[in-house]
Amino acid sequence: NQPAIGTRNRTLGILNRYHLSAKKSLGQNFLDDLNVLEGIVAAADVTEQDDVVEIGPGIGALTEQIAQRAHQVLAFEIDQNLIPVLAETLADYKNVTIVNQDFLQANVPEVLDERLDGHHELKAVANLPYYITKPILMNFLKGQVHFATIVLMMQKEVASRLVARPNSHDYGALSVMTQYLYQVEIALEVSKKSFIPAPKVDSAVVKLTPRPVKQETAYSQPAFFSFVHGCFMHRRKTLWNNLQSVFDKQPATKDTIRTVLATVGIEPNVRPQTLGVSQFITLTNEFHKVGL
Ligand code: SAM
Repeated sequence: NQPAIGTRNRTLGILNRYHLSAKKSLGQNFLDDLNVLEGIVAAADVTEQDDVVEIGPGIGALTEQIAQRAHQVLAFEIDQNLIPVLAETLADYKNVTIVNQDFLQANVPEVLDERLDGHHELKAVANLPYYITKPILMNFLKGQVHFATIVLMMQKEVASRLVARPNSHDYGALSVMTQYLYQVEIALEVSKKSFIPAPKVDSAVVKLTPRPVKQETAYSQPAFFSFVHGCFMHRRKTLWNNLQSVFDKQPATKDTIRTVLATVGIEPNVRPQTLGVSQFITLTNEFHKVGL
C-alpha cells in the first residue's frame, strides 16, 4: 500500500528511480500536492458514471486520483519516456489507458471511439502543459467532442481572461469565445509551490460547463469567432476602426456598417471591450444578413 503518487516523497522517489528531470520544453511541472489533486477531481465531480479524458498524465499523479473515481481514464501523453513510468505507477488501475500521442495532433474522436464504450458521460480533466494552453483551449472551443464538464489547470493569467467580464482589463476575444459556449468559473487557485519543479507563475483551475440552452446563437460559429477576433484586433481603437479592417473601407461598406450599428443601437465609437457576448452575436448575425 504505497502513498499516493502526488505526495511529495513518492513523486521525488519516482523521479529519482527513473532519473527523470522535468522537460521544460514539454511543460512538465508535476503536481505534488494532494489537496490540489483532490480539488481538481472534486471540481470535475468525477464518478463511476464518467469516462475521463486526461491530457498529459506525467507520472500519473492526477490520473491516479481520477482512476479511483471514474469508470475509465484515457490519457494522452506525448513523452515516450514517461510511458514505462506510467505503466508501473498506474499498474494497479485497470481502468486507465495511456495513449502515447500528441493531443493536438491526435484524432481525438477516433481514439475515443476505439477506446471507450460510449455509454458514459465524457469529461476532460488536465493539468495542462502551459506552452500549449491556448491551442488546447481552441481545440475545446471547436468542440469536435462533447464533454459534459472540462476542468483544466492553467496559468492564472489565462484563467483570468477566460472568466473576465466586459469592461475589465482581461476581457477580450478569448473571454467572448469561451463564454459563448461555456459557463466558466475558477474552481481553485494554486500556488506555484504545489509543483515540482515550480513553474514561474501561479495557476488556477478552471471549470467549463456547456451552456444549457443557448438563447442566442450566431449563424455560424467559425464566422462568430473570426468576427470577434477581428473586433479585438486593436483593443485601444474604437469598434468602428476595428470594423474597417474586419470588412473593407469602401464608402458603400462604411454606409452599411453605419446602418447596422444604428439598427442594433451600438455607438460606433465604443471600444470592443465594452460589448457583451450577446452583442457580438447580434452583430455577427446582422452583418451577415446585409451580406457583409
Ligand atoms: N498530469 C501531471 C501532473 O499533474 O502532475 C503532469 C502535468 S504536466 C503540467 C503536463 C504534461 O503534459 C507532461 O507530462 C507533458 O509531457 C505532457 N504534454 C506536453 N505536451 C503534450 C501534448 N502535446 N500532448 C500530450 N501531452 C503533452
